[in-house]
Amino acid sequence: MDEPNESFEDYILRMVEQGYIATDGQPLKCSFCDSSEMENRNEYYEESCIIEFQVFCKSCDKQVGLWAYGNWEL
Ligand SMILES: [Zn+2]
Repeated sequence: MDEPNESFEDYILRMVEQGYIATDGQPLKCSFCDSSEMENRNEYYEESCIIEFQVFCKSCDKQVGLWAYGNWEL
């Protein structure tokens, strides 16, 4: 259960502590089913450089992360 007053920073900290994401936001484990099987999809390129991709859980097929322009988005 999520704490109703949990701040975004607390949420990130909790996800890092529980091993779901790295400190830079990279997804390590699916927060829906705990699988660590990930795959990148929907890669976008600009002048042959990758600028964006989404990370999906292979087990439950949910999006667990988005990388864009060098940073992990949550
Ligand atoms: Zn999953």
